[in-house]
Amino acid sequence: MSDRSQSAPDKAAAKSPAKGHKMPGSVADGGMADAERDILAELDKALGEHVALLLRWNRILVLPDSPLPSDVDGNDHDHDAPHHHDCDFGAWYAINRHNRLIDQPAMHALATTHQQLHESAKRLIEGRELDGEVDPAEFDMMALRAESFFSQLRRLERAFRTARSDVDPLTGTYNRQTMLGDLNAERERAIRTEVPTAVALVDLDHFKAVNDTHGHQAGDLVLQSIAGILQSHVRPFDKVYRYGGEEFLICLPNADMTQCARVLERLRRVVEASPVPITETTTLPVTASIGAAPMTKGRSVEQIIEKADQALYAAKQGGRNRVRVWRNPDDKKPAEKHKK
Ligand code: GH3
Ligand code: MG
Ligand code: MG
Repeated sequence: MSDRSQSAPDKAAAKSPAKGHKMPGSVADGGMADAERDILAELDKALGEHVALLLRWNRILVLPDSPLPSDVDGNDHDHDAPHHHDCDFGAWYAINRHNRLIDQPAMHALATTHQQLHESAKRLIEGRELDGEVDPAEFDMMALRAESFFSQLRRLERAFRTARSDVDPLTGTYNRQTMLGDLNAERERAIRTEVPTAVALVDLDHFKAVNDTHGHQAGDLVLQSIAGILQSHVRPFDKVYRYGGEEFLICLPNADMTQCARVLERLRRVVEASPVPITETTTLPVTASIGAAPMTKGRSVEQIIEKADQALYAAKQGGRNRVRVWRNPDDKKPAEKHKK
């Protein structure tokens, strides 16, 4: 993601908010932290809501005559492509758009993309009902708008989080303090919506040797560079955290273990193919080992991370610079996904 240069939400405008009453569905006015937490929660919810909506819209377009499975979001859908005011995010924005934290260009741009996304879906579904056709150009447009909506959401979320110091200062990834809360929320969402979600641990190979040979500062440059690579090569709704010194944790919502392995293998290759410049004349080759595990009902977040760590250990044992995923939670051993 190239949002490091994105301006953070207007901090000045949010200073000294008056103590107030929290209205249902509106952003709390009881202090900066509360208000930001509410917005973050809403942005996060919007993401899940629209992943589910997209799945639903695609299903209606591809399988118009088959009955819909029980609703993943538990909502009563009177309309197949609800008007942008009728979804939870749209309703929330309509109520809160003049709140001083929300009344800013990036948020309004998000709302515009959101509206356009719904309009595309509506046109497609109405066209399908009318003449049985799905217009390919409109379909591509909907996909583009969805992608844009998700990356705008993530950018905004990062901007709010940067303002809240949820970000690791060296690498710009989310820090460990925010990780457990996020992962617990993701796990609950994965269980509730039955959308598969995975957790991956990325550990740089022989990183101690980088420090020993080239110094700690060079090591820091490598960490910054790899963090940038990870963040710009995951999908817009994946999140990268600094888990430990040279270890990163990635949460991959909406990815079964096959998709997860594909994303991670792509990451592994990009890292391998991107030596880090540490002086004007020296670049250092870097590789990473990656282990992943699915989020499951039967395991706590801590246990899921432990499984990913076991897969990571297997990747190290297998020779490093490789991805291993925990394919079946009941498997005794993590299955090797990708060899170098
Ligand atoms: P392996 O392939 O088995 O992972 O080997 P490794 O050398 O990467 O593993 P190890 O865990 O022994 O080394 C990690 C090193 O990362 C040790 C520590 O000095 C370094 N490190 C941790 N945090 C930082 C940091 O913030 N900056 C720098 N420059 N180095 C760090
Ligand atoms: Mg390590
Ligand atoms: Mg290491």
